[in-house]
Amino acid sequence: MLNKVEHIGIAVKNLDAANSLYATLLGVAHYKIETVESEQVRTSFFKVGDTKIELLEALSDTSAIATFIAKRGEGMHHIAYDVSDIHLAMQQLSADGFRLLNEQPKRGADNKWVCFIHPKDCNGVLIELCQSIS
Ligand code: ZN
Repeated sequence: MLNKVEHIGIAVKNLDAANSLYATLLGVAHYKIETVESEQVRTSFFKVGDTKIELLEALSDTSAIATFIAKRGEGMHHIAYDVSDIHLAMQQLSADGFRLLNEQPKRGADNKWVCFIHPKDCNGVLIELCQSIS
């Protein structure tokens, strides 16, 4: 049901500085920058083989990324799995006892429908389900 790791999300304090650092690390520049107003984040994406790295910077103190960095510092924020049918995946995982952080898929960065699963239900890791919007 979860097809593959689609991307790994990393919370950063300064997106421009992190973009330049990750370009050096990965040997490739980010291919897009996108603001998601509803989440109060600015994101950038890098391709590494079949997987992507998403860097996330908070746009305001109320952003979940700001809260995360205040609590835990910069670092790995979530793992995103590609799904073919997000409604079905949400239904099944919910039936299996995983708590979904949003009851309906919401529009995320990179042209995706997304849903998050409570990190307490996944050994402390925030999980994102994402389905490409065709
Ligand atoms: Zn993500």
